[in-house]
Amino acid sequence: MRELMTAYYTEAKTAEIDGSKKIAWITSGGPVEPLHAMDVIPIYPENHSAMLGASKMSIEMCEVAEEMGYSRDLCSYFRGDIGSAVTKKSPIPGALPKPDFLVAANNICGTVTKWYEILSRFFDVPLFLLDTPFIHGKITKQSSEYVEAQMRELISFLEVNCGKKFDHDRFKEVAETALEGLYLWEDILATCENRPAPMSCFDAFFFIAPIVTLRGTKECNEFYRKLLAELKQRVEDNIAAVPNEKIRLLWDNIPIWTRLRDLSELFASHGACLVADTYTNAWARTKIEGDDPVKGLGNALHKAYLNIDFQQMIKEVKGLIKRFSADGFVIHSNRSCKPYSLGQFDMARTIQEELDIPTIIIEADQTDDRVFSEEQTKTRVEAFIETVTEKIKKAL
Ligand code: SF4
Repeated sequence: MRELMTAYYTEAKTAEIDGSKKIAWITSGGPVEPLHAMDVIPIYPENHSAMLGASKMSIEMCEVAEEMGYSRDLCSYFRGDIGSAVTKKSPIPGALPKPDFLVAANNICGTVTKWYEILSRFFDVPLFLLDTPFIHGKITKQSSEYVEAQMRELISFLEVNCGKKFDHDRFKEVAETALEGLYLWEDILATCENRPAPMSCFDAFFFIAPIVTLRGTKECNEFYRKLLAELKQRVEDNIAAVPNEKIRLLWDNIPIWTRLRDLSELFASHGACLVADTYTNAWARTKIEGDDPVKGLGNALHKAYLNIDFQQMIKEVKGLIKRFSADGFVIHSNRSCKPYSLGQFDMARTIQEELDIPTIIIEADQTDDRVFSEEQTKTRVEAFIETVTEKIKKAL
């Protein structure tokens, strides 16, 4: 996968220098397929901020943003991104390539609307902002038409900024490739329904990069086909991600990128495997369906996990717990991501009461490690594991 991601960033850095392709920065829930159809290279600042976290550079970058006057209460992905844009510090040599334009969708949060306005001023480039109404229950006809109209405006925006006509045939092809990629990703995650699971969600957090950054490309699908074959083989050979898997858990929220190894080892040391999570499964939701890819993409964007109501979220969590036979529920209360973390205490109570599943809430942040307490987390996880173990024993 390293090769795949290196090739992606190398192409983008080359395009920045020689202008061979346009570059767009886009939010993770944004409409990437039309960009591929116009041969634009999409760059995901959120993914880059996660890389800052995993490479332990995020605190330094967040502090740069804070010195500029941005509150520490704002999302650490935003702070890390601004810090990196200003200082040019990044795990990617020379940092992210400069965008020619920006595309943001508010189907994940309101933060990105302000974040991208700031980027637009900073780089002095145009911004397209897609507004996706929040979904209470089902997508309404009005909402679907409203987003579809904006999708057509996006096409005009791309034509102006790329200086060429939009290729609808190519868009259809990209949409089909993206759909295939999402089904492959779904199948990959589903291999963990097996007992023992052939990978844990910590592996899935790593393998998610192509479906985020390369969705709609053949390279993405090729990589996932190989990964799926490998995981199926592991299932057949009974190879477990956590040897002697005793406990199966579900993770909620964005990973704590700064602590992936520590947490993975902590849980594994107790024979506990995090077999699924709401974050990587959320990526399998936004499938473009129907004959008209413009309308289909608009509807798919509505379905982002953070754009649905709380009752639907609980339904999804319950579904994952049952499907992956989870014995417990691990909730990351993520200081950065308010839309993801709001209501988690109610969710924990509901899951505990209705499914009789022990839950734990870990207070942390996706990349701002200053709010992570190692000792407290370790003690709480150990107490939680004891509770889950007792419950499993009683059920035998
Ligand atoms: S607030 Fe949450 S959804 Fe929004 S950019 Fe930050 S992490 Fe992503």
